[in-house]
Amino acid sequence: MLNLVIFGPPGAGKGTQSQKLIDKYQLVHVSTGDIFRAHIQNQTALGKQVSQIIADGNLVPDSITIAMLEEEVKKNPEAKGFIFDGFPRTVAQAEALDEFLTGINSSISVVIALDVNEDELKTRIAKRQEISGRADDAADKLVKRIDEYFTKTIHVLPYYEAQGKLSKVNGIGDIDFIFGELTAIIDNY
Ligand code: AMP
Repeated sequence: MLNLVIFGPPGAGKGTQSQKLIDKYQLVHVSTGDIFRAHIQNQTALGKQVSQIIADGNLVPDSITIAMLEEEVKKNPEAKGFIFDGFPRTVAQAEALDEFLTGINSSISVVIALDVNEDELKTRIAKRQEISGRADDAADKLVKRIDEYFTKTIHVLPYYEAQGKLSKVNGIGDIDFIFGELTAIIDNY
């Protein structure tokens, strides 16, 4: 199984690169942000539980997020591998994912962190909001999301670095060029 984690702050290009990686490697895309948005749109119990948290730019509690993620992986027993996009966002989530994958005789293969500076993130998300209309892309909520990234999520990097699984890639530049860097890392695995 090829299991990838695509990592980076909001606006780093995780979704864009994930889409290209899925096509190339036939992986199942697990984007916790997308799954939460689908729940909110369908007004499920989970959607109602998390909609305000997400609208405010806060992280959803680990227990809820981890349970949802495991559910999603279990739905795809035939998968050749997964690409985890927007998960893990805390060290507790990273530990839970390792434990869960071990339980199904698998593990994370490669973690790729897209590196983009804060000014560029703000510019990109302002542009994205014009198209997506995502409430949490609004400037005041974005500050909160970037803050969540730099206070909680960034600690996931040393966790994977210690396992020798982390590769950092400059996330600014031509989309296909960046994709080429990612595939070189993955093909080298
Ligand atoms: P994203 O589309 O990945 O930027 O996620 C949108 C929002 O969903 C985040 O700002 C969080 O509120 C929530 N979310 C997504 N993934 C996670 C996660 N792994 N842990 C906690 N909250 C999450």
